[in-house]
Amino acid sequence: MTVGYLRPTRVLVNQQAIYENVQNELAQLKNQETEIFAVVKANGYGHGMVPVAQAAEAAGATGFCVAILDEALDLRRADFTEPILTLGITQPSYASLMAANQISVTVGSLTWLEEAYDILKSEKNSRPIHVHLGIDSGMGRIGFRDASELLAAYQFMQTHNDYFDFEGVFTHFATADDPDDTYFKEQSARFKTLLAVLPEQPRYVHVSNSATSLWHAACNGNMIRLGVSMYGLNPSGKAIEQVPYPLKPAMRVESELCFVKEVKSGSKIGYGATYTADSPEWIGTVPIGYADGWLRRMQGSQVLVDGQFCEVVGRVCMDQLMIRLPHEYPVDTKVVLVGNSGNESISLQDVADYAGTIHYEIACDLAERLPRVYQ
Ligand code: PLP
Repeated sequence: MTVGYLRPTRVLVNQQAIYENVQNELAQLKNQETEIFAVVKANGYGHGMVPVAQAAEAAGATGFCVAILDEALDLRRADFTEPILTLGITQPSYASLMAANQISVTVGSLTWLEEAYDILKSEKNSRPIHVHLGIDSGMGRIGFRDASELLAAYQFMQTHNDYFDFEGVFTHFATADDPDDTYFKEQSARFKTLLAVLPEQPRYVHVSNSATSLWHAACNGNMIRLGVSMYGLNPSGKAIEQVPYPLKPAMRVESELCFVKEVKSGSKIGYGATYTADSPEWIGTVPIGYADGWLRRMQGSQVLVDGQFCEVVGRVCMDQLMIRLPHEYPVDTKVVLVGNSGNESISLQDVADYAGTIHYEIACDLAERLPRVYQ
């Protein structure tokens, strides 16, 4: 992917904010033994995986979670020596590669262990692979749902403990960010029932994402998979406003006016000619578009110029969009798409509200083409 360093559109990432969010989370943990694994998958939720991992590590995170094996290997290549857990399912054919790089794997079936065993035993001097058994307590995504299969998986690892190190057991909640905790409690009870089937508990027992740790801290096991709140975002969007400590957003998105003109009343703007100036108007063009992850449905939303809200007029193009300015501004004037300008600000949540989605998606969608600048 070509990165647009020579274009004035940037994602600015405040590593100090990430540091503080992790420190604040650590400070509020009642059980001081509880560790934080920073969730840095999907390019650190769009913020940049390695710089986020560095900030989280400096703040006291003792491990990392990623989604896929390639991300885990990138972290190892960047010299992180802490435990790294892949949260998604990795094909058993990569068991030796994971073992060699000490990447911890999520396992959700006995079949996975059997297939991995065949591969590991065929390798000479293979190291044991660190296994976290995933329990599906109600998320309906991956993991053991059945007590007898869970026990069989445990026993299989015991029998073949030259190859398997039972390092963790976990579940994931579907509604931890919901003010109604009925389903959360059901999942919690199901997890406890399945956990009780195991004759021993491994080093890590973990159930908490950001929302669980913020609002159901009593449930925390001895490790937290801290994702979105580490980036300073409220996991519930706006559903639950009360958070135990202030979350500091780490991301800002900025560009500059690259073209400015005055158009006559009746002029059309953009593909489909969907916008008509109803008086003489100053129109600015901003070099960001849907190929950068700035969604086409952001037509009609607002950006900030000189502390003033300006509407995105006409359709968002692949690489550019147009805005209506209150008056003439010079080319190179700063445009803020996420962040503050003067006394006004636009949050990722505001963008998500407009786009009809969640802030996670807006942040993750920001393309690699946008340079990340660390502050
Ligand atoms: N744990 C698991 C299994 C996940 O899939 C995720 C995110 O998708 C997280 C933890 C982190 O969640 P959050 O970003 O809401 O903290």
